[in-house]
Amino acid sequence: MNPGRSLIAIQEKIKSGNFTISDLVQYYLERIEGAKHLNAYLEVFADEAITKAKILDEKLKNQPDQCGKLIGAVISIKDVICYEGHKVSASSKILNGFESLYSATAVQRLLDEDVIIIGRTNCDEFAMGSGNENSAYGPVINGVGENRVPGGSSGGAAVSVQMDTCLAALGSETGGSIRQPAAFTGIYGLKPSYGRVSRYGLIAYGSSFDQIGVFSHDVKTMASLLEIIAGNDPMDATSSTTPAGKYDFADTRGPQKIAYIDDVLNHPSISPDVKSATLKTIADLESRGHELVPVNFDFLDHVVATYYILTTAEASSNLGRYDGIRYGHRSKEAKDIHELYIKSRSEGFGDEVKRRIMMGAFVLSVGYYDAYFTKAQKVRRLIKEEIENIFSTFALILMPTTPDVAWKLNDKSADPLKEYLADIYTVIANLAGIPALSFPVSQSDNGMPIGMQLMAPQFKERDLLNFVETLH
Ligand code: GLN
Repeated sequence: MNPGRSLIAIQEKIKSGNFTISDLVQYYLERIEGAKHLNAYLEVFADEAITKAKILDEKLKNQPDQCGKLIGAVISIKDVICYEGHKVSASSKILNGFESLYSATAVQRLLDEDVIIIGRTNCDEFAMGSGNENSAYGPVINGVGENRVPGGSSGGAAVSVQMDTCLAALGSETGGSIRQPAAFTGIYGLKPSYGRVSRYGLIAYGSSFDQIGVFSHDVKTMASLLEIIAGNDPMDATSSTTPAGKYDFADTRGPQKIAYIDDVLNHPSISPDVKSATLKTIADLESRGHELVPVNFDFLDHVVATYYILTTAEASSNLGRYDGIRYGHRSKEAKDIHELYIKSRSEGFGDEVKRRIMMGAFVLSVGYYDAYFTKAQKVRRLIKEEIENIFSTFALILMPTTPDVAWKLNDKSADPLKEYLADIYTVIANLAGIPALSFPVSQSDNGMPIGMQLMAPQFKERDLLNFVETLH
């Protein structure tokens, strides 16, 4: 059986009796078993998925008009997204054994449209990392082979889609955690605008950056899922009241004006493979009649520092709640409350999380607050303004998703700074709060996937999806 990798195709096949939803779930469970060595899933909800599939097969037979829009969609969710009655750990020992008391709004909206959730996927601890090597439950391996990282932090989510163990995946982004793994694994990844999708039920890392987004094999599947999860939610005060609308593909728009950042192509960070793929993409878009124009962006060398100052500050505050009292791991050896906090946190958090909590506490400390935190906020505003300025003339901005292709396991883990610098092209969209979509374009000489990203003005997800859909 080969169900195909688009929701439309799967729904057609189910409706025409090619296979049932139960067959489909069985297929994915076998695929999960076959890809077990990649460590993409922390938990598979097998029995539950089988039971739900049977119920949906019945529903399709007896009340076809009652079926949800996404019937036939089987997805995975990253282990930072809450699903009522299911474990969620942020791939951290500190949340070992913790069970969600409620579902994230994004999850609930998908369930209401008859989505089946097949499991929760491995990620970097608290979504901090770019290689998925910081999980307390071991690294995820990229399905391309050669012991490569899948990217991070949503590495498990990317691999779950790459290996066809589910149709699509929910991941989360703070600074590239969907687009970068999508690029490393050769699939599509979308980070919506800040405020487009409710963060209710998403475990917080950097609250002014975090967004839930989608991995898939095609743009239309991505659009179908986004349409359901997008939109205002009273449970998240930062979710936008601007209506999300329909993410359809009714538009046939002509040539577009697309900017690309000249400095990126001449930046020391970019690898020869990625540079030539970028030039090829530019030429390809031009040959389709679009106008591609190089523009200046003066902040390229400051985006990583700005991002890490602000996100570590927010993380150090957000992660204060893991104190060994309220949730998760509690040290058994403490003799008083103070020691209980220290020991629970020391035992529960991994090295990268500790590093960021310390960095965040430092940049927020009395003597350094203005020099680091306040300054980084000002730089963030300048970055946002510069990006908005580009969008006053251009519909989209094109950029490679990553400076290089997937690296080998352990290549960067000894030097966190190297790993941080790999985020240089993705963090821009998060700093500016705009949507960005990574799509596969080619491969490096050694066969590693290369992805490009397009960014659009805030809340212009529809334009982005429509445009990328025209590219294949
Ligand atoms: N690699 C970035 C970081 O470690 C992005 C992570 C993310 O988007 N969650 O912070």
